[in-house]
Amino acid sequence: MNDVVAVDYEARRLTVQAGMTVQNLADAAVRNGLSVPVGVFPVYGNLTLGGLVAASAHGTGAGVASSLGDILTGVKWVDSTGAIIHSDVATETGLEQIRALIGGLGLLGIMTELTLQLLPAGSLAQVETWVRDDANLAADIRSQLATSTPHILIFWRPDLRYYKAYHYKPLEAGDVPRHPYRPDGRGGMLSPAPPQSIMTDYLAAYTADFDESGPQSDFLNAQGCALGDSLMNLPGFRDETSVLYNATIPSSHATFSEECSPHCIWDVKSGGYSIEDNELHIGLSRLEEFLDDVRSIIKAEEQEKQDYLDRRYGKGKVSVCLPPGFFWIRFGKGTKNLLATTAGFEEPVLYFMATFLVSGYSSYLPTKLDHIAEVIEQVGLCKYGARPHYGKNFDRLFAHPKCHVRDNFPPENFPKMLELQMKHDPNKVFEPELVTRMVERRGPVYGDKCALRRECYCKEDSHCADGFKCQPSASYPEFKACKVQYPKQKEEHHSEPKQEL
Ligand SMILES: Cc1cc2nc3c(=O)[nH]c(=O)nc-3n(C[C@H](O)[C@H](O)[C@H](O)COP(=O)(O)OP(=O)(O)OC[C@H]3O[C@@H](n4cnc5c(N)ncnc54)[C@H](O)[C@@H]3O)c2cc1C
Repeated sequence: MNDVVAVDYEARRLTVQAGMTVQNLADAAVRNGLSVPVGVFPVYGNLTLGGLVAASAHGTGAGVASSLGDILTGVKWVDSTGAIIHSDVATETGLEQIRALIGGLGLLGIMTELTLQLLPAGSLAQVETWVRDDANLAADIRSQLATSTPHILIFWRPDLRYYKAYHYKPLEAGDVPRHPYRPDGRGGMLSPAPPQSIMTDYLAAYTADFDESGPQSDFLNAQGCALGDSLMNLPGFRDETSVLYNATIPSSHATFSEECSPHCIWDVKSGGYSIEDNELHIGLSRLEEFLDDVRSIIKAEEQEKQDYLDRRYGKGKVSVCLPPGFFWIRFGKGTKNLLATTAGFEEPVLYFMATFLVSGYSSYLPTKLDHIAEVIEQVGLCKYGARPHYGKNFDRLFAHPKCHVRDNFPPENFPKMLELQMKHDPNKVFEPELVTRMVERRGPVYGDKCALRRECYCKEDSHCADGFKCQPSASYPEFKACKVQYPKQKEEHHSEPKQEL
């Protein structure tokens, strides 16, 4: 399932098998005298094209092609009746089927071949990096999208008050590259993690000190801030010998990282730590309001911990930071697909994701301030009508008791999809549980520690990890989350506060 099936040079279309990976498609395009447009790839080269189309996965591009689905012109697929179907966007039925297959999570059948609209050979992109304070982030985003490029990827740390933006500018014929040419530029955000590094021990200690009661809480928090800052400085892309922030590179290879296994940063077996992601998709018109909300949620939720650390160590002695990691901001295009997370938006889409490093040695505990993610998710789902990314979220987002993902889609989309399902898979052999949950608007299955397993948002303390209580969030009290109980008085604390110098 990893071969090139056909090349149409005149139309610049490449047909490949659906099990091909991103990396192999980029290489195959170049080999066949074509280029993949900037922005349609996700950041990792070892994901399969079929999985990406089925999950409506994305790269970045506000209002322009920014996912493989956006450049898909044909699909060969097989439904559960055994029918082999060739869908082509040029026909009404084909277009309808393709709109159902993109983001359809394999509900209708198995895609075996994908035809993609590519660009001429030698298409280039200029990559530029900006680091700015985030005081005017939303306004900066609007102006950068309008004047620089729609293909922007931002890493943001609201608590550290800055962001880093990568601009991927497609070069037009006649444009003179402004930066050194790097023929094999590869995204490097997912640099291999050092196996069993110092981070392994650090993250384990950081998480184990969840209630800030250990003898080194001040050190662990300071290190957390420093580590968060250094993670923001991972390079945007690199070649084999150097790390560059500004360069001209082939568009096919501009945005993704090559294979990193067995030392990928998320592979707990490699470094003893992993990452937790969650990602919401909302209309770009709500950018300002949403970013303000994220800021105020973080501020309010951090305050309880800050108050406690101030009592323990003295005011302002220890800064509170988010756990090591960052928020990602990318952009997409509204579509007429049925279940793609971009479905029905008549405006560009904001992709907002959190990535935090977590220790592999403390699965019995969430990381520090983990509840901030729970609050942002619930506000996203319930206030912003966000759609959660299908391949980047915990079960809890698809099992909210009140705010159902299905209701965040245009009302006609699920019924249309189910009609197609009756035709192509009447016995529901392909239906994944995720779709069943959305279709049935299933709520959570509450149980002991379900919030720790990320299967529910807590309703009572027993849903949380030991040492945590299910409480109204400080920023949006209508949403509860599992929160640490910090001691109220100094003398309740078993560790001696340090003397002020
Ligand atoms: C390191 C990493 C980085 C990532 N970066 C991004 C990113 O930048 N942007 C982004 O949007 N997402 C990203 N993702 C999430 C990614 O989109 C999902 O994990 C997606 O599911 C990946 O595709 P896969 O090849 O792993 O597919 P799978 O997880 O195997 O499949 C996903 C879904 O598609 C269905 N499916 C798979 N193949 C077919 C087929 N041929 N026909 C029909 N249905 C099929 C499966 O049944 C399943 O429901 C990333 C994931 C990882 C692990």
